[in-house]
Amino acid sequence: MKCQAITRAGGKCVRPAVKGAKRCLLHTPGCAAQIGRKGGLRRRVFNPENLAPLEAPASAEDIAKYMAVTLVEVRSARLDPRLANSLAQIGMVFLKALEHGNLEKRIAALEKGPA
Ligand SMILES: [Zn+2]
Repeated sequence: MKCQAITRAGGKCVRPAVKGAKRCLLHTPGCAAQIGRKGGLRRRVFNPENLAPLEAPASAEDIAKYMAVTLVEVRSARLDPRLANSLAQIGMVFLKALEHGNLEKRIAALEKGPA
């Protein structure tokens, strides 16, 4: 069921209603403030200043090291797990790019033939 509330702009709210209620979370009195507080809390807990400074990675070994640091930071609640997920994704892209670069070098060497 859709939320029954009317937005400030005068239209119907498009968010789904909370189960067993007529309104969405944002239009349930007190809930918006609670969500705001949670967001604020998350931002406070995951302050980037609490993170270990890292240089740009240059090797698969660097990525392995950074993923280990990331694991520790998530586990100790110093890093937002969602940010950690995106770091892991970027790390994977980086590793793929390294792999492609290495293959290109090896192919170029093979194409050049014996010296
Ligand atoms: Zn609503």
